[in-house]
Amino acid sequence: MKRKLKKVLILLFLIVLLSQTPFIYRRYELAKLSEEIARINSQRKELEAQDRYADYKGIIHVHTNLGGHSTGHFEELIKAAQNSELDFVIMTEHTAEFFDTSSLTLRGKYLGVLFVNGQEVDTASGDRFLMIPGHADSFMDSKLETADFIRKYKSLGRLIFVTYPERLKSKEADFDGFEFFSLNTNARRINPGLFIFDAVWSWRSYSELLLTKYFARPDDSLRLYDELTAKRKVTLFAGSDAHSNIGFFLLGDDAGNKVFYLKLDPYERVFRLIRNHVLVEKDKVFNEETLLEAIKRGRLFVGVDLWGDTRGFRFMTENGQTMGDEIEETEMPVRLKVLSPLPAKIVLLRNGEKVSESYGTEAVFDVSEKGAYRAELYLDLPTLRMPWIISNPIYVR
Ligand SMILES: [Zn+2]
Repeated sequence: MKRKLKKVLILLFLIVLLSQTPFIYRRYELAKLSEEIARINSQRKELEAQDRYADYKGIIHVHTNLGGHSTGHFEELIKAAQNSELDFVIMTEHTAEFFDTSSLTLRGKYLGVLFVNGQEVDTASGDRFLMIPGHADSFMDSKLETADFIRKYKSLGRLIFVTYPERLKSKEADFDGFEFFSLNTNARRINPGLFIFDAVWSWRSYSELLLTKYFARPDDSLRLYDELTAKRKVTLFAGSDAHSNIGFFLLGDDAGNKVFYLKLDPYERVFRLIRNHVLVEKDKVFNEETLLEAIKRGRLFVGVDLWGDTRGFRFMTENGQTMGDEIEETEMPVRLKVLSPLPAKIVLLRNGEKVSESYGTEAVFDVSEKGAYRAELYLDLPTLRMPWIISNPIYVR
């Protein structure tokens, strides 16, 4: 009997060991990846800013406990923004029936970081948008159809961005921006069974890198974005949808004390992974007005800064036009130029189709066809499934 029990125990032990082997190997892969990232970053080229823009980096789409289903507080948020060296945070509080979340959330400078008081809004057409800044009537106006909602708030000077593009119904509506990637949406696609074992082996040493290992290029939403921009200008950006409330805990009491607690998305962690870089003219003061104006114009690129600081990236024409600019057909052929602070695979796309590719810290493309041209840059790290940088388009019309 004893021998039988021993055999069963040995068998169980072997099964557990065997089931963990892939995750031990994945930890080894993360260690390798981390070394490779350090090696690539040692080749960093400090690019002299060759144009008239300064780069401001920040996060768009952030919630606190003001608008429900978030546990985040202003203190935690402000500190996290400062520690992550952000220049701006665009708040997007959910609306509430009895009070105006846009006037209660952060607006202005805190610890040197500029906050803008946006809101996340629904319309009667079933679309969901980020409205920046927010407005006292936005809760009530969720009964408006999308076209009427956008008409009203654009006339009041608000920016309207699509969030959850996979649910967008009013594709023809006149919105200004498009959240092609959302950390929250990406996180929800993670297989929890896989992630828990990955976390057991790798969380302590590589928590942030592990999270970005699960990043995947959102092909469907980029396809929709490219369809839209073939016809008109729309600003592309990445959203965080940061709530600071996703976590696991094993033991706790009613007072909220948690004995074993793993919080996946504290603001500070979320703020270090992927950022929007906005280009504002150097001779302008950086404030809410100049920030929103630059975003509206499309002077923005998205960078997974955790893999390497993307500051210094530029996508421009030989004549100094930059992302978001519209160039007349008569100016063709146009010479497009990409500058990268790290050696990378530089892919040029026209209306979403790849037209050219090169490798290095600089690339030049001569184009003579109309279309929306944008760049995607990939670090030489084949296990990653997401571009390191995605630019907004330069439009040749
Ligand atoms: Zn949200």
